[in-house]
Amino acid sequence: MAYVITQSCCNDAECVELCPADSIHPTPWSPEYATAEQLYIDPDTCIDCDACLSVCPVDAIYPAAELPESMRPYLKINADYFAAR
Ligand code: SF4
Ligand code: SF4
Repeated sequence: MAYVITQSCCNDAECVELCPADSIHPTPWSPEYATAEQLYIDPDTCIDCDACLSVCPVDAIYPAAELPESMRPYLKINADYFAAR
């Protein structure tokens, strides 16, 4: 199961360059970044490496299996971002 970014993401993009699978979008160098509510993880490419988790300053990233119940909607919110691209 992939990792998931949740509501406390502050868009600082600390996680983006650390991701070895280029799974975190929008990147700061894309046009969508300026208007993004948060960043998202592509569940189809995330390799569950754990690299992003330790750098997030607001603890917004969870392994999908450890998502608190109240944040379960973010599974779909992350996936939908990539489905719409
Ligand atoms: S767990 Fe690894 S592959 Fe998945 S989004 Fe985080 S850094 Fe990228
Ligand atoms: S490091 Fe955390 S707060 Fe920063 S963009 Fe990534 S998920 Fe969002």
